Amino acid sequence: MFIGPPGSGKGTQAVRVAGQLSIPHISTGDLLRAAVKAESLLGRAVAATLATGALVSDQVMTDLVCDRLQAGDTARGFILDGFPRTGAQARALDTMRPPETLLVIHIAVGDDALVRRLSSRRVCDSCAITQSVAPAEAAAHEMCPYCGGNLVRRPDDDPETVRRRLVTYASAAAPVLDLYRSRHGFITIDGSRHADAVTADILAFVKSCGRS
Ligand code: AMP
Repeated sequence: MFIGPPGSGKGTQAVRVAGQLSIPHISTGDLLRAAVKAESLLGRAVAATLATGALVSDQVMTDLVCDRLQAGDTARGFILDGFPRTGAQARALDTMRPPETLLVIHIAVGDDALVRRLSSRRVCDSCAITQSVAPAEAAAHEMCPYCGGNLVRRPDDDPETVRRRLVTYASAAAPVLDLYRSRHGFITIDGSRHADAVTADILAFVKSCGRS
């Protein structure tokens, strides 16, 4: 499971590592955004929360992940991206899978770099890949280099919401990190480096734990 602040690159890394290991990438943010787009019952319930950058309730998130982990494609393993985000969610995850089977990859990046990164982050509205654009203002209508879709700013990547998300992350993640830090299978990786170096470190760690 991947933990790190918004903009740390954990989503990008999670997709890469899931691809390398041929296991599903389960992003709770993606699941929620898809629900909002589909205007499902869940989507209507969480839309306002996502827009403000606050956290969805532990109960809703725990039910969502518990359901997703029942799917057959998780039998060989899975990457969890964005869950658990609170101490209660971490304790709930321990009841869904044996705690000792979990590898925890903490990607750390300083706040200044995060705000800079998020201001230039765009997501393709078609294939959902994340891109960095520069300069930030000029990129309103750029096209996705992979599928030709539109690169758009996530509504919760506006500077004010970003600041709120960073504060929310810091207070919610502290108990999660406290729980995992002392366990076997935990690593903190410097996410301020080139994405390829970060991926290499993650894969080396997974291999050193005998999971590749
Ligand atoms: P992310 O794409 O991981 O940055 O998530 C986007 C938004 O979805 C967050 O700002 C929260 O509103 C919500 N969210 C995603 N995962 C969780 C979670 N585990 N617990 C609570 N809220 C979540």
